[in-house]
Amino acid sequence: MAPSVQPSSSPLRTSEGDEKYANVKWEELGFALTPTDHMYVAKCRQGESFSQGKIVPYGDISISPCSPILNYGQGLFEGLKAYRTEDDRIRIFRPDQNALRMQTGADRLCMTPPSVELFVEAVKQTVAANKKWVPPPGKGALYVRPLLIGSGAILGVAPAPEYTFLIYASPVGDYHKVSTGLNLKVDHKYHRAHSGGTGGVKSCTNYAPVVKSMVEAKSSGFSDVLFLDAATGRNIEEVSTCNIFIVKGNIVSTPPTSGTILPGVTRKSMIELARDIGYQVQERDVSVEELLEAEEVFCTGTAVVVKAVETVTFHDKKVKYRTGEAALSTKVHSMLTSIQIGLVEDTKGWMV
Ligand code: PMP
Repeated sequence: MAPSVQPSSSPLRTSEGDEKYANVKWEELGFALTPTDHMYVAKCRQGESFSQGKIVPYGDISISPCSPILNYGQGLFEGLKAYRTEDDRIRIFRPDQNALRMQTGADRLCMTPPSVELFVEAVKQTVAANKKWVPPPGKGALYVRPLLIGSGAILGVAPAPEYTFLIYASPVGDYHKVSTGLNLKVDHKYHRAHSGGTGGVKSCTNYAPVVKSMVEAKSSGFSDVLFLDAATGRNIEEVSTCNIFIVKGNIVSTPPTSGTILPGVTRKSMIELARDIGYQVQERDVSVEELLEAEEVFCTGTAVVVKAVETVTFHDKKVKYRTGEAALSTKVHSMLTSIQIGLVEDTKGWMV
């Protein structure tokens, strides 16, 4: 029998009771881990399918040193948010889209994924079990982190004999603590993804390699890094953890999801919202020259939501863009967050 992931018996961090909120300084939340009470764990043997898992106390897990997640990076993660509305309902943004993305990733990494129904149900159970950690309306969100990992022991490079689907959560505030906009550095040294690789899925292996680039950029005062395509080095792809859009006149352009960038749920939603208000949205290759000539640039992602880019630096050229009230990003940010926190009716059926 292969050793598997077992939640260790850590105590609950808050007493179970009727209090509505956990003891958190909501105003001070950034994008850092605040451990919550519970997590969800389900397991399945290779060749079988996941059945409903369990809510267990949040805590460390034990795992075989010989598991493919530890040795070969056979793992996927997801990220989505639950919001509290003014009338005190808790709603999750488009969890079915994350479930579908996990299925695509699982296929690429030869893993057994949970069904969409099981994924959504598991996210709901995790949020419900941690509901006092969902921040007050407008003060942030409960970030939900599903993992699918090859947890069964196997020595050679091969699909794992057992998979673990685990979900934990943490209340979060702003990802980037910058008021006007991001200062991005275009990376001309490292690439994030290449054609035929795993850039288009949320594989754990995509993230460690971008850290060096981010650390170097942050040490020079930048907020984050914008990667170029590995094939030509001429087109922009995406930022380390978010998608990118450029605006010129009435045209909004964003790189296509043809395997080297992550198909962001926020990206997809943004394309729909920009079209709704009359912009023409083009999913196509965007060159660095076009980026430098754009009027506006912004990023989208679950963690950043919609964030204006204030400057882009490419080699020794630095360009400043429109931000603030006149920017499309400000408008679409408000449209999206109004749906998420329930200030407007969710006519799109995005909230669960
Ligand atoms: N690109 C990358 C590399 C990411 O990690 C993320 C965050 N999931 C995104 C884009 C944005 O995706 P989403 O809008 O689904 O969060």
